[in-house]
Amino acid sequence: MTIEASKIRLLMELRRRGITDTAVLSAIERIPREKFVTETFQDQAYENIALPIGYNQTLSQPYIVALMTESLKVGDRMKVLEIGTGSGYQALVLAKLCRRLYTIERHKPLLEQAKARFDLFSQTNIVAKCDDGTKGWREQAPFDRIMITAAAEDVPPALADQLAIGGIMVAPIGEDKSSQFLIRVTRTDEGFDVEELEQVRFVPLIPDLPE
Ligand code: SAH
Repeated sequence: MTIEASKIRLLMELRRRGITDTAVLSAIERIPREKFVTETFQDQAYENIALPIGYNQTLSQPYIVALMTESLKVGDRMKVLEIGTGSGYQALVLAKLCRRLYTIERHKPLLEQAKARFDLFSQTNIVAKCDDGTKGWREQAPFDRIMITAAAEDVPPALADQLAIGGIMVAPIGEDKSSQFLIRVTRTDEGFDVEELEQVRFVPLIPDLPE
């Protein structure tokens, strides 16, 4: 099957599974996912599966990227923070939808590769840094939207703090791989509303930087 054909098949599958936001679908259509994985996995780039990106990390399956992005309700004037840059794929999807995307990755080599991809695709509204994302990005807060792409037992307090009033955060939360749920947190004047979206499987959010 050609890349074009497998891409069309994937987009149909995303629609069938309930993704309806055309801006999200069109971002996924425009971004070449095969450029975010090593050559070994390029022929699987448009399968609806997670793919390894090195350092024991994975690029989420397209359905999860689509679901998380749609659930975040991103607007084109918004300032968005992503935790866990990884390959940079999700960052690029978000950057197509928002005004400015801030993204934090704890593995320097992954971050450098991702930055090279942002340059390659001339995506100039992304600011990326190597740091422990559980602390957020204080100098740039508050954020209209926050997406965490690694699983924690609970929402890191600094990230909840850095969410604007009226802001939305989407994150996989759970104690171990078998019991994670994607949650959506909306910050109100009074506090935080939490919705459970779907069961998911993510690599862990690890505090601090690697040795
Ligand atoms: N969004 C990525 C996939 C992320 S996999 C993509 O589109 O490819 C989760 C990523 O979170 C990994 O790259 C991992 O190194 C990173 N991560 C885990 N804990 C972190 C932390 N405390 N701060 C920043 N990044 C973290």
